[in-house]
Amino acid sequence: MDIFEEVKSRLDIADVAEHYGIELNKQNKCCCPFHTEKTASFQVYPKSQSFYCFGCGVGGDVISLTEKLLKLSPIKAAERLNSDFNLGLNMKPHKPTPQERIDKIRLDRKKMLVSSWAEWKDEALNTMIFYEKLYRKIKIYFEPKSIDEEPHPLFVKSCQKSEYLSFLIDEVLTADETERERTWQELYKNNGDEYLHGLCY
Ligand SMILES: [Zn+2]
Repeated sequence: MDIFEEVKSRLDIADVAEHYGIELNKQNKCCCPFHTEKTASFQVYPKSQSFYCFGCGVGGDVISLTEKLLKLSPIKAAERLNSDFNLGLNMKPHKPTPQERIDKIRLDRKKMLVSSWAEWKDEALNTMIFYEKLYRKIKIYFEPKSIDEEPHPLFVKSCQKSEYLSFLIDEVLTADETERERTWQELYKNNGDEYLHGLCY
């Protein structure tokens, strides 16, 4: 389970919303915190642990909600939830097992043999862009049609994935040189291709 799934599995979205100042009514509705309105079109769905606003179209899961409310990156949002709700999760990448170290050596060797670092980054960026677009399309396709409709799991997933990917793409394209290289190194160190696959699927 990745860290986002881990955080999500331990929290209730309605509790989190209320903790950060959203006052839900009995139907789990309220005026949207992300746009100005007089009638409640912001809905939290405890069953699917998601939210959606029929006024401005924002939606997603507990991580996306925290990101938007507190203006944080996905990783920072997960870290913040971990500390605010005392989840006690270790947010640092875990210490690799001997098998993982062997896999990493193999991967490094493959990296040297098969393609240069620049090529790897290029390919990784293309993959991220491809999936970011794909998840945006899925998101639009599965968007709930009415406020009473429980969001489709693929809608929720695509909200989270597209936002995280667009955050990463932004990081590797627009941050300054050192920051960019650090993000790439992080992505690669986290098991490189396998990690990217995890992000994308
Ligand atoms: Zn809204």
